[in-house]
Amino acid sequence: MWYSGMQLLDTEVDFDSSVAQAVPGLADGHCQRCGQSALVQLPSGDYYCPHCINLGRVTSRTTLYRFPAPQLPSVEWPLTWKGQLTAQQTAVAAALVASLQAGRDHLLWAVTGAGKTEILFPAIATVLAAGGRVGVAAPRLDVVRELAPRLQVAFAHTAMAIRYGGAPWPQRTVALTVLTTHQLLRYHQAFDLLVIDENDAFPFAHDPALWHAVSAASRGPKLWLSATPPTRLRQAAQRGTMGLSILARRFHGHPLPVPRIRIQALHLPQRIAPQLIRQLQQILMTHQCLLFVPDIAWLAPLTQQLQTAITTAIAGVHAADAQRAEKVAAFRQGRLRLLVTTTILERGVTIPRCAVVVLGADSARFDAAALIQMAGRAGRSADSPDDPVWFYARHDTLALHQAIRTIRQLNAR
Ligand SMILES: [Zn+2]
Repeated sequence: MWYSGMQLLDTEVDFDSSVAQAVPGLADGHCQRCGQSALVQLPSGDYYCPHCINLGRVTSRTTLYRFPAPQLPSVEWPLTWKGQLTAQQTAVAAALVASLQAGRDHLLWAVTGAGKTEILFPAIATVLAAGGRVGVAAPRLDVVRELAPRLQVAFAHTAMAIRYGGAPWPQRTVALTVLTTHQLLRYHQAFDLLVIDENDAFPFAHDPALWHAVSAASRGPKLWLSATPPTRLRQAAQRGTMGLSILARRFHGHPLPVPRIRIQALHLPQRIAPQLIRQLQQILMTHQCLLFVPDIAWLAPLTQQLQTAITTAIAGVHAADAQRAEKVAAFRQGRLRLLVTTTILERGVTIPRCAVVVLGADSARFDAAALIQMAGRAGRSADSPDDPVWFYARHDTLALHQAIRTIRQLNAR
């Protein structure tokens, strides 16, 4: 039963569909895969769903095959992780298990660097031990790629699959699936526990099909993880329909560095002002530096100017960069001192003495959640909890103030 819990198109794979439940792709004016109703008519008179088309077209002639996901045999406690949770992490982990056992969703509102992944382990182990199926979904492929090996080490004897666009089809029965949030659209009533990680990250927050996918793919409680939860989750937690844990402290117990805003007329990316160069030089005397920019077009001109102006190892990297892994590794090892980047580094990566500078912090591409995530790359090590964070902007924006207010609120808890 390799496709347990999946819903697949007749065109998708060679499979024995006799065990699957066949449903029409479109019914009652809704797409049965993504739940959306804005269907489009084809010249033939048939309809199709444009919303989930990147997973293969669902038309009025499509059959969706929903494969059952029977309980698996129960197993001995499957957690092979040998690390230790702090007292605070242990309390939160216990609260997650309590919600799970009450059949209730739970929101874990945790600052970056609080050790969120490890806190999940007891809840995941509880479900796996009872023969349940667990899904861990994250919006971005790089997060999936970073999470999967950590989970495989923590559950070394558990069969696991990784699902993303273009991944090979599962070739065995699995109990644990790590997948991009979009791939949830390929599942139906599949997961006894579904973890939704970083649910505030683009594109999840604004896509109703993904909210639909989360509820259609799961048949048990959901654990939502976020550093900046969307309003609908906060409200559900306040009403008590969902459990809530807030982890305002990093594992080392120090508060988050509060970003400083510098409002300045910078002519970026064409020309880096001398005072910005001086500030970067000063930072680099004591720290490595992550320099975030809002636009990939800024990378080459800025990297070039900085390489000319500052005599240290500098590189630029973006999410789709073919050398991304090498550059990030070089930065982690300290061989690169300054990294100009459009992308947020993998979680769980702690670089001691790492400053963060955000240029174009007033860009519409940076909402408060993104600003908090970027700032959260600093101060992660117990050796340097107060690494500097600077937001450079031409104008004050609401997002800048929301970000700083949220960080202060978390620090005040
Ligand atoms: Zn659809």
